[in-house]
Amino acid sequence: MLYQSTRGGAPADGAEAVLRGIAPDGGLYVDASLPKRPFPWDEILCLPPLSMAARIMSHLLPDFGGMEELLRSAWPERFDSPVITPLASAGGFRILELFHGPTCAFKDVALSVLPLLMTKARAGRGEAGQTLILTATSGDTGKAALEGFRNVDGTGIVVFFPDGGVSPVQRMQMVTQTGENVRVCAVSGNFDDCQSGVKKAFAALNESGEPARRGIVLSSANSINIGRLAPQTVYYFLAYRQLMDRDEIAPGDPVDFVVPTGNFGDILAGYQAKLMGLPVGHLVCASNANRVLTDFFATGIYDRRREFLRTASPSMDILISSNLERLLYLASDGAEAFVSACMNVLAREGAYTVPEEIMARIREDFAAGCCSEEECARTIGRTWRECGYLADPHTAVALKVTDEWKASGRAAKAVVTLSTASPFKFPAAVLSAVGGQAEGDEFDQMEALSSLSGLPVPPSLSGLRDKAVRFTDVIAPGKIGDYVYEIIRKGGV
Ligand SMILES: *Cc1c(COP(=O)(O)O)cnc(C)c1O
Repeated sequence: MLYQSTRGGAPADGAEAVLRGIAPDGGLYVDASLPKRPFPWDEILCLPPLSMAARIMSHLLPDFGGMEELLRSAWPERFDSPVITPLASAGGFRILELFHGPTCAFKDVALSVLPLLMTKARAGRGEAGQTLILTATSGDTGKAALEGFRNVDGTGIVVFFPDGGVSPVQRMQMVTQTGENVRVCAVSGNFDDCQSGVKKAFAALNESGEPARRGIVLSSANSINIGRLAPQTVYYFLAYRQLMDRDEIAPGDPVDFVVPTGNFGDILAGYQAKLMGLPVGHLVCASNANRVLTDFFATGIYDRRREFLRTASPSMDILISSNLERLLYLASDGAEAFVSACMNVLAREGAYTVPEEIMARIREDFAAGCCSEEECARTIGRTWRECGYLADPHTAVALKVTDEWKASGRAAKAVVTLSTASPFKFPAAVLSAVGGQAEGDEFDQMEALSSLSGLPVPPSLSGLRDKAVRFTDVIAPGKIGDYVYEIIRKGGV
């Protein structure tokens, strides 16, 4: 099976696409045949969750065998729910909780699968040695990647985070990380220094030829990897199935999904579910005050030339949503020259315009809305008071947009809102929104939130305070290459 690059470069098979992540021409890999290949979506809905998931994953990544076994080692032991992503009912809301994994955020779903796919891809190509993941993180992705790659044979991972630039809980999550094949290092600088340091190290190390001589392949756990998208498509089916089990829908009824969006990966995974036949009505893109996407869906103009706002939903603070490139490709029937042109103009001038006929097609499947900081806090407070449901700020953005979508008169009868993080990950914002006092450090705030709500703090968060610190290195951004070189010289982590 071949995946096309959105910018028209050489296609890649599944193994190559998973190992590379991004195509050499800068494009993203897409399965252009997905809308045409038949998939028995209705038959698989009756299967047990993991078998169903395996059928979906095998359709998206047919080059990989043994998918059910792979998912069995990825999810059940890491997730505290037998259905992986349970559907909660709160007032009129149906909330798909994606945060039952080891780091209490939705990136766990995909990052617990990607390492196993990478190992399989290398084994299938007869490659020995280690796949070494280098990641710069502003907080959440680093921890989810560490948990996903921890003790996975044939892989190693090094995570760099800005010293003083992540929350105390995020720092503790990373520096106490267990596992034989993990390394965590603070960088004196901000996230941008950290990220550009890793990019430079990546290029310089590959240039040196040293990783190859040691049998090491450098890679990243980037969110544009097809191996991260595929697992996310699964939970749209899991949500549909749970609505059927509760007799809230009959097979074939359309369901809308409202998705708290940053890099556009989560919502694009929902589009893949729709292309596979799942009766998805609209995919509603919910943005915070960084409303680039809301404006794009309204006007057809993608314009990143605006102030970057820091919000209470930091994982959605993004001005360039990389995965939108895939939607442009699919909605234009693979017009790679058009997609390349858009991306070039975006890089050069900071904006591009999509013709009305393509926007009209996009709007058949997508809608969009946004939520200010005040509205976000108000929504957390109201959802708690009126529905008894404690939402994190990312989820609250989507709940506010869900209300508006339902009021628009265009919504399907069933609307599911995706919830991407546990409220205990953002205790200060949630506490103050529900009328509590955000005092002390984040651990104190989690406790306060727990007594106020009567909900337990997830053990993976509450246990952190007393865990042993394993990693204390702090280096300058310019030393990242040397740091990784030392690891490579010893044959990997
Ligand atoms: C990453 C993230 C998002 C955004 O998901 P995208 O796939 O980047 O659109 C939303 N909420 C949380 C909590 C996240 O970590």
